[in-house]
Amino acid sequence: MNIDDIFVHLPMLAQTDHDLIERAFTFASLAHEGQTRKSGQPYIIHPFNVALILAEMRLDAPTIAAAFLHDTVEDCESITIDDVEEEFGKEVAQLVHGVTKIEQLPTQANSRQRSSGSERQAEYLRQIFMAMGNDVRVILIKLADRLDNMRSLGALSRDRQIKNARETLDVFAPLANRFGIGHLKWQLEDLAFRYLEPEKYREIAMHLAERRLSREQDLARLTHQIETTLKAHGIKAQISGRPKHIYSIYRKMSRKQVQFDQIFDVRAVRVMVDDVAQCYQVLGIIHNLWRPVSGEFDDYIAAPKENGYRSLHTAISDEGGKTLEVQIRTHEMHQDAEYGIAAHWKYKENKSETDDVFDKRINYMRRILQNVQDDDPEDAEGFVEMVVQDISSYDRIYVFTPRRDIIDLPDGSTPIDFAYHIHTEVGHRCRGAKVNGKMVSLSYKLQTGDHVEIVTSNRGGPSLDWMNENLGFTKTQRARQKIRYWFRKQGREKAIAIGRDALERELKRLGMDDYVRADIAERTGFLSLDHMLIAIGYGDVTAPSIVTRIVQLEQREQEAKRDELVASAPTVNGKTADHGIDIAGLSGLLVKLATCCHPAPGDDIIGFVTRTSGVTVHRKDCKNIANTTEPQRLIQVSWGRSETHVYPVPVEIKARDREGLMRDIGAVIAEENINMTNVNITSDNQVATFRLVMEVAHISQLSLILNKIDMLPEVIHVRRVLPTERVAPTL
Ligand code: MN
Repeated sequence: MNIDDIFVHLPMLAQTDHDLIERAFTFASLAHEGQTRKSGQPYIIHPFNVALILAEMRLDAPTIAAAFLHDTVEDCESITIDDVEEEFGKEVAQLVHGVTKIEQLPTQANSRQRSSGSERQAEYLRQIFMAMGNDVRVILIKLADRLDNMRSLGALSRDRQIKNARETLDVFAPLANRFGIGHLKWQLEDLAFRYLEPEKYREIAMHLAERRLSREQDLARLTHQIETTLKAHGIKAQISGRPKHIYSIYRKMSRKQVQFDQIFDVRAVRVMVDDVAQCYQVLGIIHNLWRPVSGEFDDYIAAPKENGYRSLHTAISDEGGKTLEVQIRTHEMHQDAEYGIAAHWKYKENKSETDDVFDKRINYMRRILQNVQDDDPEDAEGFVEMVVQDISSYDRIYVFTPRRDIIDLPDGSTPIDFAYHIHTEVGHRCRGAKVNGKMVSLSYKLQTGDHVEIVTSNRGGPSLDWMNENLGFTKTQRARQKIRYWFRKQGREKAIAIGRDALERELKRLGMDDYVRADIAERTGFLSLDHMLIAIGYGDVTAPSIVTRIVQLEQREQEAKRDELVASAPTVNGKTADHGIDIAGLSGLLVKLATCCHPAPGDDIIGFVTRTSGVTVHRKDCKNIANTTEPQRLIQVSWGRSETHVYPVPVEIKARDREGLMRDIGAVIAEENINMTNVNITSDNQVATFRLVMEVAHISQLSLILNKIDMLPEVIHVRRVLPTERVAPTL
């Protein structure tokens, strides 16, 4: 522990700053005298390490002085914040005060009873933002503090290890990411992961180590090849292998559901050049050298991530077919990526040229803060979910508003999410959207770089369908929460009307118009029909889910009946009474599943021809079959169609005729992997009527697909066509 280890990172320091840091070190050493860490080391080692981490990030002198002092007020009874101010001035004192406030938070956060993990986490975050005030340096000190604490976590009890590691992964690593400080984020994640999932951590680390040699040889070869080619083009570049972070490997593995091999064999290099033009030049040269892997190119220079990250990402497949990930960036971009907001802090004093990236990040933080304070108070729960979702999701897209502001949304967001992000009212009145100048459906998945424009109406509100996750209109909790809130505000009478509407529409579509509404409510566990309609109207349940539930109940009853009784005669198409069983070339036989061995699809089965009631199907290993005295009555059977049991359902779609209508309908059906047959189209007076048969596996699938078709532009209605003689739905 030598103060020069700190100064070595700060070569251009003015004498007064030098003195400030030195005095802070002396002050802290005295204050913590006699105190020890859990590991038994002198306590001062901790503030020293925190100061060192910040010095490595080249932060300014007040920050480093505050790092030395950050625990003095909290841990030393004799020292107050006023002492610090008197000794080191207001700026340093405020930094120390901010960090001290954050350090006192966890107890407050824990004291909130009845709160779930994610609520506590969000509450904690909110309080951190409050404590930070307007000075980001407070958080930088806190992050460095957390990093050093994580490095010495081994000395704590297992309980504390898990608690701190969890908090680090849930709160501090995402914070570091939000500030674009890559090197802190990775270290925090890897350390936390090591304590949370020691087995998995070790496994990945081992795999990495095992393949290190061959990976390094490959990398050396590829790097050399890139280097020579770039040199031939007159480009001076710095090429390095890119360290793989264990937690990011783990995340990638769980996200893409792939095996170790596919990820560990990925080689990654980083090419750093002097300017932006060279970045694109290098990209072209590398794409010429090897075959680019499609879908792996990202241009974060043209569209930087909201945390300020800029770089070109691509992947190529080398001669041996192995993938090489390549990041191309300028040296300056690299500084940014590693140190984020901290990289810009030192420009603060001579900020003659406006530092765009820095300002953008500060504005982003302000916006988060504003959301904390302004959001509908009734909506507190939604806010919590929103922050958690926002902060824990790294998979994000960046799209433009008409004024060319960049909006950052979770991957998979739709124009509706975008609209609610802009403003709650824009969301409520959203009726359509243009992406890159073209109208798109409201369930369109936005892509990074899209220019989005929302078409609004003057009146009206959101649609219940927007909350139905299956329909894909919304991705963010924030949007769903605001929609739900809108419906809640409509009041009881309106909710009943909205709920009734949705239910009637769903019943009509599925050809279940004649069901007694009150029975539906009773059977699905509601106190009354009104209760059910209100629940639908508030968006707590969806009409499709209620109708699906009813059909499931009926199905179960029918199955129970069938198990008890001899099967009735097969229906015309033979698809219900035969349990999906094929009988050695015969058809039309009565089929009954044996109650002694209860064969289920997939079991080896055999049929036994009874004298009076058709064929009974047994498992091949059933004792009754083995002991039969009449083996001549055994007959080969198989499960036949049952594995892909689908039901043909006739459907009618009416729509105002337009170009591309059939293609759109076809696309929706194909998306759900549903076969259609017997397509028949008639057109009358600009109205097209489609009749077709869909092969669906389950009524919930039918409900979903009819809903989706209903959402297509110009569709007037879509419904299931019933046979003239009404039979109970068998789906
Ligand atoms: Mn500390």
